[in-house]
Amino acid sequence: MKFCVVGAGFSGAVIARHLAEAGHTVLVVDERPHVGGNCHTERDAETGVMVHSYGPHIFHTADTRVWQYVQRFGVFRPYTNRVKAVSGGHVYSLPVNLLTINQFFGRCMGPKAARAFIDAKADKSIIQPASFEEQALGMIGPELYRAFFYGYTRKQWGIDPADLPASILKRLPLRFDYNDNYFNHPYQGMPEDGYTAVIKNILDVNGMEIRMNCSFEDCSDDFDHVFYTGPIDRYFNFRIGRLAYRTLDFERFVEEGDYQGSAVINYCDESVPYTRITEHKYFAPWEKEQFSKTVCFREYSRLAQKGDIPYYPVRLVNDEALINDYIGMAREEKKISFLGRLGTYRYLDMDVTIKEALHACDVIDHALHSPEFM
Ligand code: FAD
Ligand code: UDP
Repeated sequence: MKFCVVGAGFSGAVIARHLAEAGHTVLVVDERPHVGGNCHTERDAETGVMVHSYGPHIFHTADTRVWQYVQRFGVFRPYTNRVKAVSGGHVYSLPVNLLTINQFFGRCMGPKAARAFIDAKADKSIIQPASFEEQALGMIGPELYRAFFYGYTRKQWGIDPADLPASILKRLPLRFDYNDNYFNHPYQGMPEDGYTAVIKNILDVNGMEIRMNCSFEDCSDDFDHVFYTGPIDRYFNFRIGRLAYRTLDFERFVEEGDYQGSAVINYCDESVPYTRITEHKYFAPWEKEQFSKTVCFREYSRLAQKGDIPYYPVRLVNDEALINDYIGMAREEKKISFLGRLGTYRYLDMDVTIKEALHACDVIDHALHSPEFM
């Protein structure tokens, strides 16, 4: 059978490999000049540092199948994401942990005392938080919310936290010990040769054709089935409206030596226009000392306009209704399946993207053996 996979990010690569290994004819198209989707990494021409071109990416998962899968295609070095945050002219540790609490409130508390202290600040009247703001006030109280979340979130989402879903904040832990690992997952790492090398290896199967700089809309071939990992509203030519996305602008700058001493520093005050600065050589501590210069990205977030790269699905109430209508339209299409972050309009981490693509492979196998497929 002849398949087209639209998009050479993790979602597309996992599906394409599976189909090609099963002996099918597979064409992968991506309109970008490189594979890797938003996880793309490349060596910075001036400094030689491996940069995360579309923003910082740290691999973390609790899924053993996913962890084993990625390791077939690259060496993952141990890497712990330790984020710092600047607020009110001071530097703190994130996610909010015992050090953050003690530094911020000028205390010297142990875990039990800190828990009781924060508990006394948390708004107990909030039983079922309906928004980001309620989730924050019910969890950490007003001072930490204002210092670390209010301004950053307004910059990141362009919306008052009172109008954002609580789920966005639930991504982050609150800890009463000195553990400053940004993630809770048992498996965490950074690919030694970057994510693009991993995805190239996934796509390295005999018989698979990969066309870069090629949008699906310009592709006139016939296929038995298409796996589409691009924006779902774009596939339908925005027929019933555009889904809202945040896009990012990166301001690159180079310095001699080191710049900030950490891979990621968040700027939580609203008076600072960018959300964070990423210093890429800190993502590769095993080779960091080789580089005399350092390359950093200041990151700015804004609402995506026509032609901008879609990064974060906004998913407010209007978007929920629209995506449900698009999903209804997608179900009517018999020869196309939508997957991935853009195809399903969900904020998915890399591991979830891979997990869902592997699950799709299982479903494909099942369907290919049933007589009514396609
Ligand atoms: P994508 O990577 O977006 O790939 C889709 C591809 O399809 C793109 O290459 C695009 O060019 C192509 N395409 C779209 N439409 C068409 C078309 N019509 N024709 C041809 N090509 C098309 N996850 C983590 O696990 N850890 C992190 O630390 C992390 N950090 C992130 C930081 C940022 C700033 C962002 C935005 C995301 C982050 N993620 C992180 C999430 C991660 O980027 C996604 O999980 C992953 O990229 C999803 O892969 P995908 O294949 O579904 O989509
Ligand atoms: N957030 C914040 N301040 C920070 C870090 C995160 O207000 O210093 C908020 C912000 O709204 C963000 C959410 O918490 O979208 C989830 O954080 P995460 O680090 O997962 O950010 P994302 O992956 O969305 O960039």
